[in-house]
Amino acid sequence: MSAYHAPLKEIRFVLHELAGLEQVGKLPGFEDATPDTVAAILEEASKFATEVLDPLNAVGDRAGAQWQEGGSVRTPAGFKAAYLRFAENGWNGLTKNPEHGGQGLPQLVATAVEEMWHGANMAFALCPLLTQGAIEALELCGSDALKAKFLDKMVAGVWTGTMNLTESQAGSDLAAVRTRAVPQGDGSFRLYGQKIFITYGEQDYTDNIIHLVLARTPTAPEGVKGISLFVVPKFLVNDDGSVGARNDVHCVSIEHKLGIHASPTAVLAYGDHGGAIGYLVGDENRGLEYMFIMMNLARFSVGIEGIGIAERAYQRARAYARDRVQGRAPGLDKATPTATILQHPDVRRMLLTMKAQTEAMRAVAYVTGAAIDNARRHPDVDARKQHQAFVDLMIPIVKGWSTELAQEVTYLGVQVHGGMGFIEETGAAQDYRDARITTIYEGTTAIQANDLIGRKTARDGGAVARRVIGEIGKVAAELAASNNADLKAIGSELAAATAALGHAVDWVVEAVAGAPRAAHAASVPHLRLWGVVAGGWQLARGARAAEKRLAEGSGDADFLRGKIATARFYADCLLPQASALSQAITRGSEAVLALADAQF
Ligand SMILES: Cc1cc2nc3c(=O)[nH]c(=O)nc-3n(C[C@H](O)[C@H](O)[C@H](O)COP(=O)(O)OP(=O)(O)OC[C@H]3O[C@@H](n4cnc5c(N)ncnc54)[C@H](O)[C@@H]3O)c2cc1C
Repeated sequence: MSAYHAPLKEIRFVLHELAGLEQVGKLPGFEDATPDTVAAILEEASKFATEVLDPLNAVGDRAGAQWQEGGSVRTPAGFKAAYLRFAENGWNGLTKNPEHGGQGLPQLVATAVEEMWHGANMAFALCPLLTQGAIEALELCGSDALKAKFLDKMVAGVWTGTMNLTESQAGSDLAAVRTRAVPQGDGSFRLYGQKIFITYGEQDYTDNIIHLVLARTPTAPEGVKGISLFVVPKFLVNDDGSVGARNDVHCVSIEHKLGIHASPTAVLAYGDHGGAIGYLVGDENRGLEYMFIMMNLARFSVGIEGIGIAERAYQRARAYARDRVQGRAPGLDKATPTATILQHPDVRRMLLTMKAQTEAMRAVAYVTGAAIDNARRHPDVDARKQHQAFVDLMIPIVKGWSTELAQEVTYLGVQVHGGMGFIEETGAAQDYRDARITTIYEGTTAIQANDLIGRKTARDGGAVARRVIGEIGKVAAELAASNNADLKAIGSELAAATAALGHAVDWVVEAVAGAPRAAHAASVPHLRLWGVVAGGWQLARGARAAEKRLAEGSGDADFLRGKIATARFYADCLLPQASALSQAITRGSEAVLALADAQF
């Protein structure tokens, strides 16, 4: 059953009214991102998502990727053809440098397009997601020779890329990486070791795969300061760019997983037959630093995954609720003997929770996407710095909060279906299973939260966090002073939530220095609090924009009234979580640490 249609009206609203697409399109280098071009790109992406990727989603889940004797992997029927069309249509290089064949479009536009890929088929979309990460690493840190050798084909999608961080003893703690890289005296290295959980580490789409690998050189210091980054192609590349000899990196198995079955998750053995030839990216021992630059974008993309899968689950639940007839809804006309479940107030509560949370996540992520573009391209250096500081603060929130909410939204998606939600046939169960990985890879929620309280909050004494809280407070005050009853109510709830967030930030800044265990006990609730308030902030801005359009008499009035009603629901029913979270953070974190190990 085809389940996904890109929510284009909503996407356009967020792009134009909240993320400032017009302003982003005026940044130097983005002149091609005219409103007409962007509109055409969104239409095309939406068609590709619905017509090509969505029909493969359930097929991929059922068939899964298959490991073959000899170390190859067969992806489910239809995936290779879809990938080749995807690459041919240029989707892989949307934001990439035109010097390497990319289209140089804003991250903001790519954010909307990526959401569609993940909504239509998360397992498929992971391959380009990881390739983007590998391209990013090479673009930012690779030598001209490495760029010349690999980038054009990766940007074109002719070759895919992977990120090889994880080893069995090195997951969240990458300081424990043991893969060895031994210099060969000719500028190249030979790598020995095993990487696990490598997404699309082997596939049958393309004739080469470019692995970005973390490893240690023989003279490297212990810990995080001794990790270097290498590029290791599956097949060596000849000087004329053609594919050469097979390199010594082999897929020894793939994992059997809870979800994303069509995405092969590989165990890769490096150097079992003499050593895998690799090339150093950037400087020796700076690999982790490079990985973090690149992981920022990958983390952002995983947040977008959360939004895509949440939207998918919402659409499916909405369709089911409109169709399923069950019982008599309270308070409705007694002459009507049965009702669709959409008439039941609790089903409406579930659907509106799904809708409001998905729209909140989307708005927060797109606003962050626009800030990424401004941080890179704004003509004013101070403005660039301010945008970058905002991006740095928001990335763990977009990743951590959106993926945690994706669990709640897909959970509700199952619940709306009742028993049929538990039965694979409806697809709600697949959404629930597929979403589950998003809070784990690219750093678990706890790792995002550690980043948020440490590097992003305590390091500057909370300065950036407080600046953003100040901006939220201004929106809250403006709405609270409105004559419109809905906006007024939204404004006053947002003001209370903002105060609760400010209180928690003050506490975190002190606790990180003085009571680090308590601070870390509160880190995930703190991340959630940020998400809840940032979501309320953006929905409030959306309600304000909708009211303005309604007053002007422009736009689709039903849609705009829906935006205000959704923001009001969020303010009344979800934003109050902020004060409870703030209390749990500031008063409850010691309690988290109360039990001795033996008492667990
Ligand atoms: C399907 C799939 C695809 C993946 N794709 C890739 C890939 O392409 N490339 C790649 O390199 N890796 C990949 N991974 C690995 C993934 O990034 C790791 O699984 C993840 O980072 C967590 O590491 P871990 O599994 O070792 O868990 P652990 O690090 O053992 O974590 C276990 C628990 O302890 C918590 N914990 C650990 N350390 C801390 C801490 N400092 N503070 C607070 N809590 C902590 C975690 O939050 C978690 O709850 C993939 C994994 C899966 C399952």
